[in-house]
Amino acid sequence: MPAPAAGKLIIISGPSGAGKSTLVRRLFADPPGPLETSISATTRAPRQGEVEGVDYYFLTPDEFARRRAAGEFLECFEVYEGGHWYGTLQSEVAPRLAAGKWVVLEIDVQGTLAVLERYPDAVTIFVQPESMAELERRLRARGTEAESSIQRRLEGARRELPFAPRYRYQVTNTELDQALRDLRTILAGQAN
Ligand code: ADP
Ligand code: 5GP
Repeated sequence: MPAPAAGKLIIISGPSGAGKSTLVRRLFADPPGPLETSISATTRAPRQGEVEGVDYYFLTPDEFARRRAAGEFLECFEVYEGGHWYGTLQSEVAPRLAAGKWVVLEIDVQGTLAVLERYPDAVTIFVQPESMAELERRLRARGTEAESSIQRRLEGARRELPFAPRYRYQVTNTELDQALRDLRTILAGQAN
């Protein structure tokens, strides 16, 4: 019996509000391969409509710290200064890769750099907005964040945008359908 094909790790980053979740949701509606998401853990509160175990595992800071100390995370970071912890659980990734799945991680830049040390062949994709002004408009239009949180996300965006060239692929999300086509083309190119 041939060994089962090892899976692929697909890392999608980009500033909050760039459109990552929207693109990934659309991608999964008609997946170009055996895609599965890794559900991250976070200490932030659920937004309206977010579901435990679907959007995130929502953990208390104590529970997060306990699982971190137990070595359960592939990577984890405090994503915003004075903000919340986010992390990728090993249990979300390793079993799926072993089963030949394409595991999609939606994580920040520092998380990506940490994962690349373990999985240097990961396919890295940076989703960027057409401009900071449009990013701010989308964050406000999404209506999910308080003003202080919007400001932290915009600061985070200014920090993260310079890392875009470190990713293997860049997708500029100006027009959603076009960005989705770009993402599909990138992923279709990984199927070999
Ligand atoms: P992220 O997951 O990167 O934080 P979201 O997917 O939540 O970003 O998108 C942020 C907001 O911008 C959402 O309200 C979403 O509907 C909207 N949005 C996403 N892509 C576009 C686009 N190409 N044009 C206009 N609005 C968009
Ligand atoms: P949000 O609060 O908008 O869902 O996510 C905020 C930021 O956290 C985004 O930049 C997102 O990419 C990042 N993020 C989400 N999950 C993880 C994770 O597991 N690890 C890391 N390092 N970042 C994450």
